[in-house]
Amino acid sequence: MPFLKSVLKQYDLVADKLKLDDRIRERLLYPKRSLIVSIPIEMDTGKMKVYEGYRVQHDVTLGPSKGGIRYHLNVNLKEVTALAMLMSWKCALMQLPYGGAKGGICCNPAVMSQGEIERLTRRYTTEIIGSIGPEEDIPAPDMNTNMQTMAWMMDTYSMQKGHTVLGVVTGKPLVLGGSLGREDGTGRGVFYMVEESIKVIEKELKGLRVAIQGFGNVGSIAAKLLYENECKVIAVSNSKGGAYNAAGINVKNLIQHAKKNKTVTDFPDVDNITNEDLLTLDCDVLIPAAIEGQITRYNANNIKAKIIVEGANGPTTPEADKILYDRGVLLIPDILANSGGVVISYFEWVQDLQFYFWKESEIQQRLKEIMVNIFNRVLPLSREKKIDIRTAAWMLGISRIAEAQKTRGLYP
Ligand code: NAD
Repeated sequence: MPFLKSVLKQYDLVADKLKLDDRIRERLLYPKRSLIVSIPIEMDTGKMKVYEGYRVQHDVTLGPSKGGIRYHLNVNLKEVTALAMLMSWKCALMQLPYGGAKGGICCNPAVMSQGEIERLTRRYTTEIIGSIGPEEDIPAPDMNTNMQTMAWMMDTYSMQKGHTVLGVVTGKPLVLGGSLGREDGTGRGVFYMVEESIKVIEKELKGLRVAIQGFGNVGSIAAKLLYENECKVIAVSNSKGGAYNAAGINVKNLIQHAKKNKTVTDFPDVDNITNEDLLTLDCDVLIPAAIEGQITRYNANNIKAKIIVEGANGPTTPEADKILYDRGVLLIPDILANSGGVVISYFEWVQDLQFYFWKESEIQQRLKEIMVNIFNRVLPLSREKKIDIRTAAWMLGISRIAEAQKTRGLYP
């Protein structure tokens, strides 16, 4: 099922459960603003090429919109719209003063030079400049974008305004108003959710068998923290394939190997496996941390993990959700499990607006406090209503926005 369709289907289910007011239900169905921009840039060959970029601001009832920028060949308006909607629910669930947005450019950065990527980023920023800003919409990194991308966006925005604006994007380098702990925030949050959810099945971190799909920012950081806490990371993968060792992989060495060779396969003492194999391995916890639509009705019955912690956005389809819930698999949904990034982005924005920066220990402690607190609100709700944790999390997020919309009223 296409991603947007499955997000809208889930929205319908939750709106029914919440008995959401018809007017609010309809308002939240549509993004506030969707931009499609063309981005002409000069390639290194001297030829010009036009890329297509998007920025969708789904809802801004609770505050400025917030969401990442993705560079990938699969980026299109529907995907960006679905991801923007998920950001609205995520920010509301985590009680941040933000609405949801997402952006991206349909491109393959793997075949582009740094110069081409910089020109692409600066021109894209210029094309969407009228609708971003610290009080309007605050982009951040996502797939294939990073601190350097954010530095270029911040510089382009600041140049046009005529003064330095730190709070226009988050996920920036420290020297440009970035926050300590931002780069590993999402992976660290995933780790906190593993730590919290295994209490439900009375397991401990030591010896916990974990399989992780995706070995980028989210997957590799989660893997590193789990490894440092004595878990057995038995398998990891990236787009080229996976590595498996039932006795556990030395994650620190694998990170070096992956940096050097751009693959996690062909590493000493591991068997090469496919991404499909990884998802159905015998393990305690499965962390999909790559792309959407990985756990479907075709493989959900074969998943052996007792807990799934969604590092990626939208890795499980609604049909698979139902199968997993009926089978008693505890699934910690994306909008909670990978919220560490946006929570620390919020900390970064607050620090930028105050020109006052916090210690890393303070940041980690506040992140853990927020995530564990929300986990302990969502889990009881799912049990009380006999619903899966995703539905409970969406209900909390959507009802917060609905309450705010109702209180603000309909303009004019
Ligand atoms: P990344 O680009 O750093 O890493 C992505 C990883 O997934 C890479 O290892 C890549 O090889 C792998 N991958 C890509 N396609 C794959 C496929 N078909 N099968 C298996 N592996 C594949 O990206 P990231 O920042 O780690 O983001 C991963 C996911 O987490 C995305 O869904 C993103 O939206 C989500 N997310 C990221 C953040 C963040 O702060 N980075 C925050 C919230 C959610």
